[in-house]
Amino acid sequence: MRTPVPDYLEQVLGECDADDGAVADYIPELAQADPDRLAIAVSTLDGTVWTAGDAESSFSIQSISKPFTYALAIADQGLDGVLRTIDVEPSGDAFNEISLEPSSGRPRNPMINAGAIAAHALVKGDDAEARFARILALYSRLAGRDLDVDEAVFTSELDTADRNLAIAYMLRTVGTLQADAPDVVRGYTRQCSVSVTVSDLARMAAVLAAQGRGPDGTQLLEPHVSRQVLSVMATCGMYDAAGDWLTTVGIPAKSGVAGGLIGVLPGQVGIAVFSPRLDRHGNSARGVRVFERLSRDMGLHLMEVSEAARSVVRRYVEDSGAAVHEVSGDLRFVEAERVLRSLTEEPEGAGVVVLDLERVHRVNDVARRMLLEGVRRLHLDGHEVRLVDPSEALGEGRGGAGRGAGPDSGDGYAPERFEDAAAAVRG
Ligand code: GLU
Repeated sequence: MRTPVPDYLEQVLGECDADDGAVADYIPELAQADPDRLAIAVSTLDGTVWTAGDAESSFSIQSISKPFTYALAIADQGLDGVLRTIDVEPSGDAFNEISLEPSSGRPRNPMINAGAIAAHALVKGDDAEARFARILALYSRLAGRDLDVDEAVFTSELDTADRNLAIAYMLRTVGTLQADAPDVVRGYTRQCSVSVTVSDLARMAAVLAAQGRGPDGTQLLEPHVSRQVLSVMATCGMYDAAGDWLTTVGIPAKSGVAGGLIGVLPGQVGIAVFSPRLDRHGNSARGVRVFERLSRDMGLHLMEVSEAARSVVRRYVEDSGAAVHEVSGDLRFVEAERVLRSLTEEPEGAGVVVLDLERVHRVNDVARRMLLEGVRRLHLDGHEVRLVDPSEALGEGRGGAGRGAGPDSGDGYAPERFEDAAAAVRG
């Protein structure tokens, strides 16, 4: 069978083909772009990339670089350090507005140029070149290949960078920027001139969707960094159309003036679209329409999350009298609450209770603590709790991996661990 995913993507591009708007021309080289190109890529978290349209076309990343440089600034300076310099409030202003928060002198957020220039300068490096080299290395790691600068775009943009220079000098006057203003604008302009395809951008977006993990499982960004970046993209990523975007499309996104647009569906996919003509907000006109369409078809909107699975736990009683609670799926607060509800069916007494987590893949921190508390309370009620937890979802046991004493549930009680439910029932 041939997967229908690329055919579906072709179909979406075909239906969103009618264009309007105009290519950005304040950077002369961008005005040379073929305005009719249209491409899409969708990357799953395990690194499979589906594309349609002019997916081989490369273009400059422009403002889509901002979230990734912000991520590196946080990794280098810590979140508090970055927040002291750059706020996280949507500005409702155009991307190159020369404005700062009046009371603190901080740029309002890292997605407008003032904040992005400040974020660029927060990246560690002995000099401007070292700083940029680290930025390019991060983008390359996220994209899974060595990226490069489009020198023609870079020169063209640097020649016309007066407004960004003005912003950098303004940042210096309020003490937000210590480095040399022309140096920083040069580096920031190089960062905006990195050449990418939709596949590169979809892969980069997918790392954000995977809490900072690359397709091979390597942690490329810390989960809290990824969360911060996505939050800022959700509120500030689409310039002065951010509210409209969040209500209609409903996922964190970032656009660039060359016509690129990325969207991140946390836990599922990274998506990138390219079409150079921009709407009046500076966002790719067809890019926005493609995303609106995908959001409708694929149910992407983050505020439209389906209810958690109802059947995460099944209770049965063995001939021996042992009650087995067989749990499956990923456990978060809601699922753990269902498991606890199932455990409340055990009357006080000295019976054996088996908590079978063999079919559980992932347990988040709150769910883990809830289950351990359930184990502790069963024990207080007089039960002997036996645990089946081959992937150590509840934490490492006292007796090492496999069979033996499980993790401490509090009060010094550790349930005995068994390799499967049958062994646990046998005891
Ligand atoms: N390099 C562009 C600038 O700073 C980026 C703007 C954008 O993509 O929105 O003017």
